[in-house]
Parts: sequence; C-alpha cells; structure tokens
Amino acid sequence: MWPEATLIFPNGHQQPTQMTRIFDEDLSVGFGTRAIHAGQRPDLLSGAIMTPIYTTSTYVQEGLGENKGYEYARGKNPTREALERNVASLEGGIHGFAFSSGMGCLDSIMKMFKSGDHIISGENVYGGTFRLFDKILQNYGLQFSFVDARDPQKVADAVKPNTKAILMETPTNPLMRLTDLSAVSEIAKKSGAIFIVDNTFATPFFQKPFEHGADIVYHSTTKYLNGHSDMIGGIAITKSDDIATQLQFIQNAAGAVPGPFDSWLALRGTKTLHLRMPRHDSNGRAIAKWLAEKLGEDKVIYPGLCSHPQHELAKKQMKGFGGMISVEMGTKERANQVLKKFRVFSLAESLGGVESLISHPASMTHASVEQDRRAKLGITEGLIRLSCGVEEIDDLLADVEQAFA
Ligand SMILES: *Cc1c(COP(=O)(O)O)cnc(C)c1O
Repeated sequence: MWPEATLIFPNGHQQPTQMTRIFDEDLSVGFGTRAIHAGQRPDLLSGAIMTPIYTTSTYVQEGLGENKGYEYARGKNPTREALERNVASLEGGIHGFAFSSGMGCLDSIMKMFKSGDHIISGENVYGGTFRLFDKILQNYGLQFSFVDARDPQKVADAVKPNTKAILMETPTNPLMRLTDLSAVSEIAKKSGAIFIVDNTFATPFFQKPFEHGADIVYHSTTKYLNGHSDMIGGIAITKSDDIATQLQFIQNAAGAVPGPFDSWLALRGTKTLHLRMPRHDSNGRAIAKWLAEKLGEDKVIYPGLCSHPQHELAKKQMKGFGGMISVEMGTKERANQVLKKFRVFSLAESLGGVESLISHPASMTHASVEQDRRAKLGITEGLIRLSCGVEEIDDLLADVEQAFA
C-alpha cells in the first residue's frame, strides 16, 4: 500500500493519494500494459508521468511517530518501491524487494537461514552464486549440496531432514540446462523447503516460476530486466506474506539496497521488456540455427534447438528461448581466434542488454569456479557464450558468418 497522503497545492486545492492506475495484482491486465504502468502513479506534486528519482536519505516527520510511512531511505524509497511493485506484478507475485546487485539480493535471501540449515542448489549455477555459497556462506554454517538438477530425482535424493531451501536456476548459465520447475516444486513442498528460482535468463516474459510453485523468484536486474547494460541490481519477489516480512526486515537490517537512480533505470528498462524479449528470442533462434548448420548440432547449446536434450521441457515450461547461446569451439585457442573476429558482438562479461555480447565463461563469468569443477560440469576452455542483442538480424548473422569463416 502506498502511504496515505493528502497534498495541498499552492492554490489550496487538496488531493488525496492516487493509487496506481493499473491495479498491479490484476493479472487480467496484459503483460505489456503492466510492464509500463504497474507500480507507478502520476507524481502527487506535479502530475509528472514519470516516477521521480527520490534522491533523499531521510524524510521530515511531523511529530514523534507521525510520518508519511517513510522514515529513512534504507528502509523505503518511493523510486525503489515503484520498481519493486512493477516487477512483482510482472512475475505474478505480490511483494518485491530490490537490492544493490543480483548477488546482494541472493545474499540477503540466504540470511533467512541459520547455521545448520541445509540448502540444495543446482550444480551449474551462475559462478558468483556458487562462490557465495562455497567460499562465504559455508563459513557461517550453512550446508550446501550441489546436484545435477536436470534430473528431479537427484534433487529428491539430496533432501535431508534439515533441508530448508531448494534453489534452481533455469536455464543455467552458461550450459543452458533446464530444471523441471513443477517437479522440483513438488519435492520442495513435500520436504517443507522453500523453493527459490533464479529467473534472470528467461525473465517473466518467457517463464513464470510462481505458476510452477516457486516461493521466491529473484533476478539480477543487471541483465534482461534493465536490459541496457547501465546499472547493477537485483530483486526478489514473493507471494508469501511471511517470506515478505522476513525479506523486508533483512533488506532494511542488512542494507544491500539500490540507489534511487539505479532503481529508476531498471524501472525504465522493464517498460520495454515485452518489446525486447521477442527480438532477443528471434535473433537467438536465427543465430543458433545458423551455428548448428555450420558447426554441427552437437556444438551448439540452445534450448530452442530440437537437438537440445531438454527441448520438450523448454517448450512446456517457457514461452520463448531467449538470446543466450553457448558454442563449443574445442580449444581455448580456437575460442580466442573466433572471439577476436567479432565486430558487432563485443567481448565482455554480462548479458541481456540490447547490444550483443560474446564471452568466454571459463576465464570470465565462471573463473571463480575451480578448473576441475568447471571441467566436470562441462564448462570447457573451448566454450564461448553469445548474448544475442536486439540489433538487426542481418547484421548479427553477417558478423557471425565472418567470425566463423
Ligand atoms: C549476473 C547473474 C547473477 C548475479 O547478478 P549481479 O547483478 O551481477 O550481482 C545471478 N544469477 C544469474 C543467472 C546471473 O546471470
């Protein structure tokens, strides 16, 4: 709820708080309409259609305990709240909590658990996720099992009496492995564990983990949600009031919050998510198809290819396949040769922006994962990863063609 307020204009006109014009939780309102309007309202002071960037650390109070619901900006900031409500609506959730990065978000989620708690994680998660669990949180007494989550039975087999959470990333980075969300959600329910899903790669435009029983859905907003490679952020969404109470407490108590400008950039990004994702998807499909024809189906990993071992699950659980493609080049030398030749794609970490990027997971995003572990997972020295942007497909294909010539 927005705090109650009556605004008195310079001419004496009084106006009560306007609620958002589009009711955020009304999912009969289309995705693209909610992307643009949910969580926002015309500015009370001026009617400005864009959410102001509230650059303030504190809020003036009328008396002791008398305030507009805003006391200190670590706890609440109106720009941040607009983003939180907006993404909550897109995911089909109720409560949103924005953080200073995807990792800050996950670290805060993990603060819901205590020393001695056991958490099951997919084995091929984002490198930074594995690093946070393995190098930091393990020191605080949290126990982790990393499993091949392509097979839900392996998740079920890993459940212990002290299992408190199951965390899945699907599709995974960079091997594009899928987890059957409904099957794992069943396992989580049976074992009384919270089911947490990293939905960064698919975005709510293509995949809705809450419809499959997730309890928390989180994102690196740095990627597709913001979509313009100009900020770092994270966000966690839930439908549960109980989880929301805990996350809100942690958000304020631990304080990994985003600034208002970054919140505003992400909010600006989500307004075009429904326009960008179909283009990432169609560009991704066309490039994956070309690559599979040129290099062989076994060298190209993309859930939209019929040759992907989990293509049927991808079709069932996702509405599109997105713009992420991994390619096996055989050796680091060959990978490097090709990487250097790209002209439209830029060699850089990260993904999900409007511009196309290409990267080398073993030395970039997954450098924090030890080499033998990488090898075991299949993140070879020859693997390269493409994030297909929203440029013209003819130019992207021409770039890929000349690079692989
Ligand atoms: C980038 C990424 C993260 C981490 O987010 P940051 O914003 O970089 O901290 C987590 N999960 C996935 C899938 C990512 O791609």
